[in-house]
Amino acid sequence: MYHSENRPKHFTLTGTPISAGIAVGKVYLFRQIDLESLKNNSFPIEDVIVELDRLSNSIKKSKEQLASLQRSGAERHKNDVADIFASHIQLLEDETFLENIREGIKIERLNVEHVISVRIDDIEKSFQAISNETVRTRLFDVQDVYHRLLRNLLEIEHVRVSPLIRSSAPPILVSQHLLPSDIALLEFRDISGIIIEEASALSHIAIISRSFEIPAIINIPDITLILHQDTTIILDCNEGKIIVNPSSSEIIQYTKKMQAHSKPERFPHESSTSRCMTRDGVRIFLESNAGSVVDVAKAFDSGAEGIGLLRSEFFYLGKSELPSSTEELLFYKEIFKLAEGRPVTIRLADIGADKTPLFLSFPQEENPQLGIRGIRYLLHNRDLLITHLSRILRASRFGIVNVLVPFISIPKEFNSIRSIINSIIVDEHLDFSRVRVGMMIETPSAMMTIRQFRNVDFFSIGTNDLTQFLFAADRENTHLDTYREASLPLIVYCIKNLVVQCSSLNIDITVCGEIAAVPEAVPLLIGAGIRALSVQPSMIQKVKKIIESKTIDQVTKETNDYLNQFNFFQDDSSRNRLF
Ligand code: PEP
Ligand code: MG
Repeated sequence: MYHSENRPKHFTLTGTPISAGIAVGKVYLFRQIDLESLKNNSFPIEDVIVELDRLSNSIKKSKEQLASLQRSGAERHKNDVADIFASHIQLLEDETFLENIREGIKIERLNVEHVISVRIDDIEKSFQAISNETVRTRLFDVQDVYHRLLRNLLEIEHVRVSPLIRSSAPPILVSQHLLPSDIALLEFRDISGIIIEEASALSHIAIISRSFEIPAIINIPDITLILHQDTTIILDCNEGKIIVNPSSSEIIQYTKKMQAHSKPERFPHESSTSRCMTRDGVRIFLESNAGSVVDVAKAFDSGAEGIGLLRSEFFYLGKSELPSSTEELLFYKEIFKLAEGRPVTIRLADIGADKTPLFLSFPQEENPQLGIRGIRYLLHNRDLLITHLSRILRASRFGIVNVLVPFISIPKEFNSIRSIINSIIVDEHLDFSRVRVGMMIETPSAMMTIRQFRNVDFFSIGTNDLTQFLFAADRENTHLDTYREASLPLIVYCIKNLVVQCSSLNIDITVCGEIAAVPEAVPLLIGAGIRALSVQPSMIQKVKKIIESKTIDQVTKETNDYLNQFNFFQDDSSRNRLF
């Protein structure tokens, strides 16, 4: 008999969708702590008092955090949420609960992290035997509190996913934060949706979820505490909502919607492969960004004229050791095969900051976004750089390779790469004419000093990083959307100036940041003089339609009128040389 008080509560939460689509499934709560290794690696303690003190400090810190969460829940009139935190505080004041951990330390004389991870494991086992929803909810609370204690003991925010999700139906991944490296080890078919408590639409995780077409939503405070493991939910990223414990009729309704949406959007063959032109026939070169072979296939299916940005670091992120030369070359070979002679721009692995492959080590940095990342990391790790570069250059046997250098801020960096590339081409007896070398414009210094860079075959504007640095607004920080929203005029203005510089230098310039697929930005970019864009595969046809609907005169006027509303700096003495 199913008692009403045991029936799971039905409610709806709203957030910001960052990747469209619908998913129906069970919650997989990613706790960001590698419990397996804590459970399996205990170490004997010398001083019980010291270890008990560590536990007390963690309890104290946890209670402070919970009290503040409870307060903010109450302030937002979310009494249910506030009650959850109140019950967690009670647990941390429950002597039986605490004694259970202390006893482990005193009797087993093992480190507290190990003792707690074993307790969590015990709870996980007992779930299998318990069907009563109230008891299960209580156990989830206990588990949550244990996790909080662990996080505070370990002083960690992020831990990579180690256990791969194994479940009959792909669950919906729910996490407080997620790094690209957190999910790089997952097979994407293993997850049907992603919910992240804190992320921004420009974060790499947002880019990955869009690229794999996984419905994803962000900015739902306390979601990891509100949702429990295995709770059934509907994730509707078209409407930006989550239905928790849906009714069976809702499940049927959304499953139907999901199936209708999952049918691949088919464009008439002619439209998807024909060239992209404005209404008055000006040619716009429309390429695609990609992070995987799957992406590349989708890109060409959608009518991309080339790959304008292959984020090669995504290939590294999924590996636990440096891939062999054969493996990496095979990856490029598959891509060139799909490209069938169309250009492929391979960006050198842009690692560091939030993209940290498991097999590499990274320095502890206060500000990793401003630290040893991109080209800086590669120049600090020459062996890796040379290995990686020579593999990319050898791929020029399969087609024309455009090498793109990330995160350049001074000419010296580009010069170093140019000379390493030249010596590899000579050593490996490769053909110079099959390799073009370009650089990203994604730091303000590269943008302002663009004329100082020599021997650059093409430029590609990375507006995601450029925006972050121009506005001093961390692209991963969810609280800084205001700055990103305010960024369009300045970015369009900068791009217009870059186009002027590039046309006088006679060098191609592309935009590959996310802005290139933002519907209101597309006409402004073309009006600013951009003639090549690289966008995520799912946006190719949408961007193409926008371009086809306008004439060059129209967009030029629109862009000028748009920019004239803002009082940008004008240097009258050198009209065409703002940088
Ligand atoms: C950018 O910064 O705009 C860019 C295209 O590179 P990524 O998003 O990979 O940093
Ligand atoms: Mg970038």
